[in-house]
Amino acid sequence: MEPTKIACIGECMIELQETSPGVTSQTFGGDTLNTAIYCARLARDLPLEIDYVTALGTDTFSERMIKFWEQEGVGSALVLRQPGEAPGLYYIELEESGERIFHYWRSTAAAKKCFEYPYSSRVLEALSDYHGIYLSGISLAIFTSESRKRLISRLEEISDRGISIYFDCNFRPHLWGSKHEAVELYRQLYHLSEIVFLTSEEAELLLDGATGDDAHHVLAKLGCGESVLKDGDKPCSIHKDGTIIEIPAEKVARVVDTTAAGDSFSGVYLVARKFGCPAETAARMAHKTAAYVVCHKGAVAPLEKMVITGKDIAKCTG
Ligand code: ADP
Repeated sequence: MEPTKIACIGECMIELQETSPGVTSQTFGGDTLNTAIYCARLARDLPLEIDYVTALGTDTFSERMIKFWEQEGVGSALVLRQPGEAPGLYYIELEESGERIFHYWRSTAAAKKCFEYPYSSRVLEALSDYHGIYLSGISLAIFTSESRKRLISRLEEISDRGISIYFDCNFRPHLWGSKHEAVELYRQLYHLSEIVFLTSEEAELLLDGATGDDAHHVLAKLGCGESVLKDGDKPCSIHKDGTIIEIPAEKVARVVDTTAAGDSFSGVYLVARKFGCPAETAARMAHKTAAYVVCHKGAVAPLEKMVITGKDIAKCTG
């Protein structure tokens, strides 16, 4: 059987984390990369391939980053390698109180101009070889306006050919020139998307104060096929074909770190839906995975004990 192919688009950065005063550990991270990793974990037991789309340099860190993805089963065939460019970096400062403060150096990252390099048109062209494309509001925010324009115009072309677009709002106000700019751009994505993911907080900010069912109705009016509204440990709600269902989150005894909760939720939900699971089953599996993720430090929880695997999705689709 020909595998289902999903491309995740965005930026992955070098992560430096302060583990104790003056001591740091280094890894790589980014919201859509986290989602790609959780999708790739499901791909171990499904006819599924996950590729990451971004731009990097030809430097050592870009090289190591790609190796890190490949160990996780995320493909790099669509990664643009531009000599002289480099990835962005963030540092997680640990305060005495345990609070984490993020510092970013990403304004010159290669990913910003992702769709403006000499080979970018080939990458955009290749997107039509995929069955699904996932991107987030952070991906949109960090791209230059030219890169955004080229990407959205390509997404418009390919969504007309039946390729599923999945959009995770991940709204980070500080990455945008103005909220108006984000709201306008997001509207284009709602219209193109088969599934839109957002949190209750984002709905209020992005949809003119709309909350709960109203948020779903606004998104449907804007052309979104299916919307998934998450709310931390509270139930998520899903709107599809005029019906709204609510699915409770899993109970967690002790939350350790909520990094990548939403990213893992989206990955499991979209793969489950792509393989034909009903929305309710997909949401239960996504909640279970996100609950596992919040019990671990960092974005990427241990592989060995993943609570949902591709086998669960294969069972649900028969
Ligand atoms: P985001 O991470 O995008 O801000 P949420 O905070 O709503 O989104 O979390 C996404 C999902 O992670 C939730 O729908 C839920 O499944 C899970 N989750 C987050 N926080 C908790 C928690 N405290 N207890 C259980 N599950 C949680």
